[in-house]
Amino acid sequence: MKQPKLYVFASNNAHKLEEVRRILSPREIHSLHEIGFEAEIDETGTTLEENSSIKARAIYEWLKQKGKEQEYIIFADDTGLEIEALHGQPGVYTARWAGEPACDANNRKKALAQLANQTNRNARFRTVITLIENGKEQQVVGEVKGIIATQESGDKGFGYDSLFIPNGYDKTFAELPAEVKNSISHRANALAKLAQIL
Ligand code: IMP
Repeated sequence: MKQPKLYVFASNNAHKLEEVRRILSPREIHSLHEIGFEAEIDETGTTLEENSSIKARAIYEWLKQKGKEQEYIIFADDTGLEIEALHGQPGVYTARWAGEPACDANNRKKALAQLANQTNRNARFRTVITLIENGKEQQVVGEVKGIIATQESGDKGFGYDSLFIPNGYDKTFAELPAEVKNSISHRANALAKLAQIL
């Protein structure tokens, strides 16, 4: 009998894993730690599409060296915040916008500084997920539109959550219950599309 496939999500970020596990439940999703992958993956791409693919490919090649690539369905995400008044910045550079090492608090400060006196505060989060199954690669994209608040509010979530107010709401992602964020977020949209093709 054919063995059921295992799922591995190319991340160790606890917040993301929780979101992904909730949305793709009851599938059992393994983190990189759980499969024993500890290497750093250099995200050398210039688009979210490229970086998402680089991450998934790196896991695939690592599993292949162990002869285990057929056992797993691999998926990797890459997310960017695209601010309209900044012509789509920080985009692919979202994680390290304020410099190395990546620091969420400094990134949020930078966003507020860059948008000081700016009336157009439109932005969107965009997530690209790459799926690799039996060496075949597919991508899905999800997004959520909103605005960048004029100050931080809320203590839930991570990254830019305390600055991002999704359209149709008057609270930031960091103030909204996790169930609400998980039903409308960029990653939720992309994962819903992923679930359809799994
Ligand atoms: P990554 O590609 O998912 O690692 O995300 C890149 C950057 O976007 C990081 O700085 C994250 O903090 C930020 N980011 C990704 N997803 C979210 C989210 O759901 N809320 C807030 N920030 C996020």
